[in-house]
Amino acid sequence: MKKERISEILTVLVFALLALGVFQIHPFLVVLAMTATFIYILYRNDNEFEQRSRMESNQLANRVKTTASDAYLKQKRLYTLVANIPLPLVLLNIDGKVVLYNSFFEVFRDNKDDRELTYNKNDFEKDIHKFVNDAFIFERNIDKTMSVKGKEYQAISVPITTEGKFSGCVVLFQDISKAKEKEQMQKEFIADASHELKTPISAIKGMIEILNRDSFDDEEIRKEFMIQIQKENDRLEAIVRDLLQLSRLSSDVLVLKRDSMDFTRILDASISSLQQKAENKGLKIVADYQTHEDVFVDFEQMEVVVNNLLNNAIAYSDSGTITLRTYKKDDYYVFEIQDEGRGLSEENTHKIFERFYRVDKARSRLSGGSGLGLSIVKSILEAHNAILEVESEENKGSVFRILIKY
Ligand code: ADP
Repeated sequence: MKKERISEILTVLVFALLALGVFQIHPFLVVLAMTATFIYILYRNDNEFEQRSRMESNQLANRVKTTASDAYLKQKRLYTLVANIPLPLVLLNIDGKVVLYNSFFEVFRDNKDDRELTYNKNDFEKDIHKFVNDAFIFERNIDKTMSVKGKEYQAISVPITTEGKFSGCVVLFQDISKAKEKEQMQKEFIADASHELKTPISAIKGMIEILNRDSFDDEEIRKEFMIQIQKENDRLEAIVRDLLQLSRLSSDVLVLKRDSMDFTRILDASISSLQQKAENKGLKIVADYQTHEDVFVDFEQMEVVVNNLLNNAIAYSDSGTITLRTYKKDDYYVFEIQDEGRGLSEENTHKIFERFYRVDKARSRLSGGSGLGLSIVKSILEAHNAILEVESEENKGSVFRILIKY
């Protein structure tokens, strides 16, 4: 019984005794008054108690509700976070049970059955299984590259500690296929570039060695060698120039200096510089400009594009006409260069934009090409968001078409 209630009852008893002893009130009246007072106290106290306990229960219920909703929110936040991490991720608890994994991790699951997944009992791909197993058993950071389903992954395990003790781990996987591919391409490029540079250097070296021999006195061959050395040197220069150009284009800092201008000015400049070369081969260059509208381009870079395309049209044609045409088509300004040269097979039409790819190595070498011209053209046009199309037929000729959006 509550303390206050006992003291109230005692007070009533004291008053009753006083009423009986001191004030000589009739015992019946005193008993009647006492009974009424007790009923009131008990009834009132019961009500109060009920009210208080109801209040306390409400408070408790509210507290439980808030805690539950807090926990729910926290869990939801964690789930949302994990689901939105764009890497396959799996979370194991202290017992090695898989408590959470995101949709990106699904690709590593084989059977996808409903059984409980643990670090050593799961349906993960073989290598993933081993890594998750090691991550849990060794309780430390592990970092490993692995190949799964044709992709390269960097797997990382991070142990979770609570008050200094291991309490599970997070294992995540980063897809590094693209970076690997880039690395491989760079390696190939360096190997190709070294090979391309080695060829003229070896030729020059060989000729100089012969010229330096004490016994050498053939004036005719000397002259021939000097011409050859000059040519190989020009080739070296062209390769180095194109390599530098390409590296500038592929470094992500290329800033185009665009200006509005009449594209045919670039075409005229290119024709002037290569006219003689074409005439030497008996080729005719025709300008067919159906539009003189301005386009918004980087003048210098577009000069490189046009020079490369016209140079190729001359180099890979033995006869006929080369036509430089401009016209409007829908939202595009179109420039095309058409030749009646040796043309390309369907397969080569796609390959010619690869670095150092040449259909006919000897012919390219003879024309002083570096094998990088079209890779440069492609990069410059990509930077301009321009479209490049090729139509070609073997022994009939080719059309290289550039579409620049107005
Ligand atoms: P290259 O320095 O060898 O000319 P490019 O990158 O400019 O290098 O061209 C790659 C290859 O594409 C050339 O070696 C050639 O085989 C082919 N090619 C380019 N333009 C033409 C064309 N107009 N007609 C036929 N083949 C061409």
